[in-house]
Amino acid sequence: MTKLRIALVGAAGRMGQAIADVAASENAEIVAKSDLGDEIALAGAEVLIDFSHPDASRSICDSAIKSKVPLVMGTTGHSTKQRDEIAAAAKQIAVVFASNFSVGINALLALTERAAKILGDDFDLEIVEVHHRMKKDAPSGTAKTLAEILQRALPTKNLRHGREGISGEREKSEIGIHSVRGGDVVGDHTVIFAGQGERVELTHRAGSRETFARGALRAARWVVGKPAGLYDMRNVLGL
Ligand code: NAD
Repeated sequence: MTKLRIALVGAAGRMGQAIADVAASENAEIVAKSDLGDEIALAGAEVLIDFSHPDASRSICDSAIKSKVPLVMGTTGHSTKQRDEIAAAAKQIAVVFASNFSVGINALLALTERAAKILGDDFDLEIVEVHHRMKKDAPSGTAKTLAEILQRALPTKNLRHGREGISGEREKSEIGIHSVRGGDVVGDHTVIFAGQGERVELTHRAGSRETFARGALRAARWVVGKPAGLYDMRNVLGL
């Protein structure tokens, strides 16, 4: 396996550091890096990895297109316009855009789809995510992905972000979605299917950022040489 040459945006952040920590053991080398406001030089890089901030996505896409370098986008919290810009970039270069690079989470996504199809409209659906106090976006990108999966399986459902006051009885059409913030929690996600007299809960807990970093490097190796297109972690894992 040849050494993978990566360029990294958000290098000074928690995820940037996690990627730097595991790069050598994944046979990858960081040949260029940038953080807040720095231009990134892509000459010599085979792939660009981004874990920074949604506001950087436009210039990151432009740089990757200009240098014809595929992109692994790990940042979450993009607006609809920013997501559209990423999808437009994927018409010119290969982009892996995943709200969560852990293998375990991708099992949770598949199990959630399966459970939604089995339990259907009879169960009340709630998503709860827990993250460290420094996280900037809510709900987490993974919680949004879980909600999209539930809505695809059960198209009559609508999202309800939290509850307060005399919120009334729960509507059957709701998917409740709740963000808990505190301490140094790396990331927990639970999907609750609550029925009459029984409840199914699917939970994933990330113990360290290493799993995201290794998953992002796996995606980076996979995407090199792929045709233009918008891919996600399911493509990378062959699910
Ligand atoms: P962080 O705040 O620790 O790091 C972000 C870094 O990006 C900082 O060093 C900051 O200076 C830099 N930055 C901010 N704005 C920038 C800009 N406009 N241009 C360039 N750099 C900029 O955050 P983190 O915990 O490392 O997470 C980074 C992103 O990755 C978040 O959106 C987070 O939700 C996401 N994330 C995704 C996954 C996944 O598996 N997809 C896993 C963990 C975190």
